[in-house]
Amino acid sequence: MTSPPSRAVRVGTHPAQEVAIKASKDAQLLLLQIQRLDSAITQLEHRRRTLPELGELQRLSVSADELEDALVAAETAVSDLETEQARAESDLEPVRERLTRNRKRIADGTVSDPKALSSLIQEVEHLEKRIHVLEDAELEVMESLEEAVSTGDRRRAERAVLTDRETGLLARRDEQLTALDTEMAACRDARAALVPQLPADLLALYTRVAASHSGVGAAELVQRRCTGCRLEINAADLRTFVAAPPDEVLRCEECSRILVRTDQSGL
Ligand SMILES: [Zn+2]
Repeated sequence: MTSPPSRAVRVGTHPAQEVAIKASKDAQLLLLQIQRLDSAITQLEHRRRTLPELGELQRLSVSADELEDALVAAETAVSDLETEQARAESDLEPVRERLTRNRKRIADGTVSDPKALSSLIQEVEHLEKRIHVLEDAELEVMESLEEAVSTGDRRRAERAVLTDRETGLLARRDEQLTALDTEMAACRDARAALVPQLPADLLALYTRVAASHSGVGAAELVQRRCTGCRLEINAADLRTFVAAPPDEVLRCEECSRILVRTDQSGL
C-alpha cells in the first residue's frame, strides 16, 4: 500500500512558498514595460494567425475547388455532345447522299420501268422520313451542346471573378502581414533593449510566472486591483502591501503574478 501524497506539501508558484525577492522601484516599472511589450507581441501573433483574410481565403479555396469540378463536368459534357453531334452528322450523310441520288434518277427520267420508279419514289419517301428523324435527334444534341457550352462559359466567368477576389485578398493579407511584422519587430527590438537592464532574478521569476499564466507574469496594481486577474486585493493583503518596502517584489495572492506598485495603485 502506498500512501497518497500529502496535500500539505504544495510545490509550485504560490507566492507563499517562495522567498520574496528584492528589486528597485525602477526595475519593477521596467518589468511592467517589458510585460506590456510581451502582451503586445502576443496580441500581434494572435492577429497574425486570425486575420479575417485567412478565413476568407480558406472559404474561397473550397468554392474554387467546387467550381473547378463543375467546370470539368461542363467541359466533359461539351466534349461528349460534340462527339455525339459528329456521329449524328455522319449518320445523316449517307442517307442524304442516297436521297439526292434517287431524286436525280427520278428527275432525269433514267428509270423508265414504272415498277422500279414507284419503288424509287417509295424509297425517297422513306429516306425523307429517316432524315427527318435523324435531324430531330441531331437538333436535340445541338441544343444540349449549346446549353453545356453556355454552362462552361458561366463557370469560367465565375472562376475569373473568384481569381480576382483571391488576388485582392492575397494582396490585403500580405499588406497586413507586413504591417504586423514591422510592428512585431519594433516590439521585439524594444524588448531586447530593455531586458538586459532587468535584474536577472526578477527576469527569471517573471519568465517562470509568465510561462504558466498565458504570458502575463507581471501586473500593475491599479486602484487596489490586480490587473492580471482583475480581483480586488483583500484588506489584510492590502495592509501587507502598504507596509512592504518599495523594493520588495509583491505577488498577487489570487493569481500569483508579480504585482507592481505605481502611482495608480491607490495604496
Ligand atoms: Zn492577480
